[in-house]
Amino acid sequence: MAATSKTGHGVPLLAGRRALVTGSTSGIGLAIADRLARDGADVVVNGSGTSEAKRKDGERQAAAIAAETGRRVAFVAADLTEPAEVPRLVAAAAQQLGGVDILVNNAGIQHVAPIEEFPAEKWDQILALNLTAAFHAIKAVVPDMKRAGWGRIVNVASAHSLVASPMKSAYVSAKHGLYGLTKTVALEVAEHGITVNALCPGYVMTPLVEKQIPDTARSRGMTEGEVVREVLLKAQPTKRFVTVEEVAAAAVFLCSEGARSITGIALPIDGGWTAQ
Ligand code: NAD
Repeated sequence: MAATSKTGHGVPLLAGRRALVTGSTSGIGLAIADRLARDGADVVVNGSGTSEAKRKDGERQAAAIAAETGRRVAFVAADLTEPAEVPRLVAAAAQQLGGVDILVNNAGIQHVAPIEEFPAEKWDQILALNLTAAFHAIKAVVPDMKRAGWGRIVNVASAHSLVASPMKSAYVSAKHGLYGLTKTVALEVAEHGITVNALCPGYVMTPLVEKQIPDTARSRGMTEGEVVREVLLKAQPTKRFVTVEEVAAAAVFLCSEGARSITGIALPIDGGWTAQ
């Protein structure tokens, strides 16, 4: 049975909360959207899919979570590399749900290449999605959260917010920036019942990681199996991938009442990677 959390009175932990999770048609975002709904929140699922097929896929995923959990779950497509799309998504989510109490900035992409070959357009895309979109989304949700005197902002950052790896200049820069944004906004909104935190997963086997294995193999002259053993799992003392459910469980905790004094942190979920 999938995990759920309840208060001491048997009420779902996030009953009555309304959540927007960016980039939630796949991987970590999908698991967070699913877990928030299981724990009682209504949720807007988002993906970049503006094509008919991707939109249908997003709608199907939202409907599946709604059917499993009995919560209100809607899909809103938006390409968050376009700055104007971010406040549009937030407004659409607020309209669908009646407001946004929980914002999870999760959408992210990766590109692996040495600095002298790193395509400038990939740099721009990664900074736009992994950092600038979070800025626009936070800016759009904070006024209503302040009025309500309650809010939770969870930024899906990375172990790469804390340490670097070669060939990932744009990703590491964006994720370090996202942690800086997390700390700054946490201080600005601390007296308004709003917390802002960063989750810092190590390697999680999602399409984002699967896609970088062949590129890393090429850049480092390794086989794909060697990349998994010698690069990815070598970083993690547990020698296993973090799971999407483990990241979702941490997100739910940060959204709960029990976490109201936790703000401005970077929470490693990395099997000990950044303890080294
Ligand atoms: P994923 O590729 O499985 O999912 C990415 C999601 O982002 C998808 O829903 C996709 O539709 C969405 N997306 C992509 N481009 C978009 C755009 N332009 N506009 C809106 N949405 C867009 O990736 P994932 O591994 O689940 O990654 C999710 C987050 O977790 C990312 O921010 C990533 O950096 C972070 N993270 C992942 C890992 C890992 O090992 N997988 C580790 C640490 C952090």
